[in-house]
Amino acid sequence: MKQILMIGTGGTIASEVTDAGLTPGLTSEEFLEYIPAVKDLCQVECLQLFNIDSTNMTPDHWLGIVGAIRENYDRYDGFVISHGTDTMAYTAAALSYLIQDCPKPIILTGAQKPIHMDGTDSKTNLLDSFAVACDGRMAGVMIVFGGNVILGTRARKTYTKSFGAFSSINYPVLGMVQDGRLIPYIQPQVKPGGPVFYDKLNSKVSLVKLIPGISPVYLSFALTESDAVIVESFGVGGVPAGDKGGFYDRIRAACALGKIVAMTTQVQNEGSDLAVYNVGHSLKNDLGVLESYDMTIEAVVAKLMWALGVTQDNEEVAKLFYTPVAGDMLCLPE
Ligand code: ASP
Repeated sequence: MKQILMIGTGGTIASEVTDAGLTPGLTSEEFLEYIPAVKDLCQVECLQLFNIDSTNMTPDHWLGIVGAIRENYDRYDGFVISHGTDTMAYTAAALSYLIQDCPKPIILTGAQKPIHMDGTDSKTNLLDSFAVACDGRMAGVMIVFGGNVILGTRARKTYTKSFGAFSSINYPVLGMVQDGRLIPYIQPQVKPGGPVFYDKLNSKVSLVKLIPGISPVYLSFALTESDAVIVESFGVGGVPAGDKGGFYDRIRAACALGKIVAMTTQVQNEGSDLAVYNVGHSLKNDLGVLESYDMTIEAVVAKLMWALGVTQDNEEVAKLFYTPVAGDMLCLPE
């Protein structure tokens, strides 16, 4: 029988009703009692790392999860991590960069309703996750939620309340779980020799979302406080006034000081293409701004934190940024 390590981190799935709102409190051992059928699938051991609302999740928590998987890697066939849904996509992306080419499944799951509530999605999501973890055909970091199996670098929370809370962005779902059985559409490619673990992140990464009429002053603040700033621009990408405005000037000055600037788009699907419009063209060609193409914003945030943890050389950061990891990027630059 497969041995699975269940790592508890909190979220709605582990929450109890209190006067001050839902608060994580149940341990993973306690909520496993709600799914006795798991005993027919695998042997589960539990590790409660913390018990928090995922709004409180930080890059240090991500490193804590990686450390736990690394320490226990040889003893288990797979890992199921219970996690709040709000920042689960960021954690999935971060784990995808911090644990690369992992031949064993690392599954994140959670729920929109606590496990003790009528009509909860917790039990199905947990049982589906254990089914995928034990199946043997899936490897690497995934989210299993609402019957979908989503690659860790491609997940986004797209519904605040519905049970199908997560979507796979610019990439098909890896599979479905129906009646407790995995139907795989795509099996993730894992290079031999893995897993490769990383234990460092640089969290001085920030994100500035453009709105019509926004002052470049907001960008200045982010550039001063961060080692890398992601600009969430409109459409395929650009900044107001192109190379003649305050955004361009500030980005040029920051790049000269060795800061990293990356462009992404606030449009969920199809990604950026900075070369298309005059407002984006020279950002990339003249200033060396990085372009996110079809990567999710969650993946761009995590990839920059990881790349800046690996090297302080900006050329190396750019190389790492443009090297696809765990299916994060399909539209490669020419
Ligand atoms: N606020 C909760 C969390 O992310 C929401 C959830 O788990 O669904 O921890």
